[in-house]
Amino acid sequence: MKPFLRDSVPQTLAEIPDSTAFEAGYLVTKNAGWRSVRPVIDMDRCVGCLQCYLYCPDGVISRQGAKVAIDYDFCKGCGICRRICAVGAIAMEEE
Ligand code: SF4
Ligand code: SF4
Repeated sequence: MKPFLRDSVPQTLAEIPDSTAFEAGYLVTKNAGWRSVRPVIDMDRCVGCLQCYLYCPDGVISRQGAKVAIDYDFCKGCGICRRICAVGAIAMEEE
């Protein structure tokens, strides 16, 4: 069996892609029209752990320096990011 290639795993923050989604332009239909709540990040509480970035099912959370940002054009408001954030930096607010 071939050994796991450690070299293929990012070893530093700089090696992690800015986004888990495809490059801009792949998603063509904005879904903000039917979202009833939106996640809002409290940047003072955010510790940049990237868990929301990893767990967002739509890949709409991207790295912004040491923290993260949400693309509201494509966020569907599912709240998974809020559930996964261990420090409670994300709150769901009504549209
Ligand atoms: S899970 Fe919370 S603390 Fe971690 S990057 Fe996302 S908002 Fe910041
Ligand atoms: S609410 Fe859902 S779709 Fe929107 S950023 Fe959070 S996990 Fe992603």
